[in-house]
Amino acid sequence: MRILFIALVLISFSSKAQLNRAERKIAEEAGRLNGEATELLRTLVNMNSGTMNFEGVRSVGNLLMDEFDQMGFETTWADGSAFNRAGHLVAVREGRKGAPRILLIGHLDTVFEPDHPNQQYTMVNDTIMKGPGVVDMKGGDVIILYALKSLQEAGYLDRVTVEVVMTGDEEKSGSPIDLSKQAIREAAQRADYAIGFENGDSRFETAVISRRSSSGWSLHVEGRPAHSSQIFSEEVGAGAIFEMARILEAFYTELQDEEYLTFNPGTILGGTAVAEDSVNIGGTVTGKGNIVAATAVVHGDIRAVSVEQLERAKQKMARIASQNYPHTKATLVFKEGGYPPMDRTAGNRELLNLYSEVSTDLGYGEVSAVEPINAGAADISFAAEFVNASIDGLGLSGGKDHTAEEFGNLYRLDDSIRRAALFLYRLGVRD
Ligand SMILES: [Zn+2]
Repeated sequence: MRILFIALVLISFSSKAQLNRAERKIAEEAGRLNGEATELLRTLVNMNSGTMNFEGVRSVGNLLMDEFDQMGFETTWADGSAFNRAGHLVAVREGRKGAPRILLIGHLDTVFEPDHPNQQYTMVNDTIMKGPGVVDMKGGDVIILYALKSLQEAGYLDRVTVEVVMTGDEEKSGSPIDLSKQAIREAAQRADYAIGFENGDSRFETAVISRRSSSGWSLHVEGRPAHSSQIFSEEVGAGAIFEMARILEAFYTELQDEEYLTFNPGTILGGTAVAEDSVNIGGTVTGKGNIVAATAVVHGDIRAVSVEQLERAKQKMARIASQNYPHTKATLVFKEGGYPPMDRTAGNRELLNLYSEVSTDLGYGEVSAVEPINAGAADISFAAEFVNASIDGLGLSGGKDHTAEEFGNLYRLDDSIRRAALFLYRLGVRD
């Protein structure tokens, strides 16, 4: 018993010893504020803010806006009517001269609209909360706010200039997407670093320094309609469906080995005539077994880990689509919009190292990178290209987001707040 006691004292001493006086003060403040933070999370989870419930999103935004106002932030509501969404909360606070400018990204909306049965939190036990948006990402929003409060209470908020953007349409982006993401992009253009508080893969031990892009493509193929008995002849050629099959097969054989790249043909229609239904994503075809197909259409998506990889893949696909079988013609179109990739840059790796050091110094263990294949698209992707470095996934741990079983580990809330606060502090000292 006695030996165990000494060992515990040594462990807690050695972890604390990694923190200087200022950092210990910040860590203490995070602990002191944890009750308040938990209470706010309960309140936020019980407020419906499904993306299309504009009033709900706005209410969550207003509540957080008041908090930022009280802390001396300059807050604005970026109206979302131009992209048919509620809008975004933007809060800015200038730090001391020369302080690095850090963009903190959250979102106010959830996937649970008012008609969904999942509306209120319940406690699974003393420290695990089940509820809509608890990790995706009201937990992350609370971590942003209370990391900043911990810094302020300890007297170190001036070390950083902070711009917080909490979007109202992360789960279901408004359209046009350019307008929907404008607030994030503009804030990123002013910032040195971008930090996202999504739950990442929902583990306390990981963070995200690379996310793949996500965008769509379509392929339209035309062939020469004729009686099937004449297919392959000099006058008729291969027909639209054989050409479509050739292209898809070549996409598969030439591109499937590329690490982190995926592309998926999701729907296909082909025959004599095709009537596409773009609203319901589908359509009808007419044709017969004894008629050479005149048309074929495929819609798909593509995900790449870097701009370079995406461009390379697009070029290969375009080349494949251009080498047509006789009397066929293919048009491959990469759709505008979508999510750009968050590249695994040296700067991002450095940020992860710094964050991992903070975590180790707090006695929480190292933080490692989530595999990009397991990291979905998120708002930080629109910021990443403009800043020196970016990192995401600093939100609350838990799991099962986007389902009625979504849960958050409340026992990690103050650890996450503390870790985020010290990370910001060290970014401020370093620069
Ligand atoms: Zn989210």
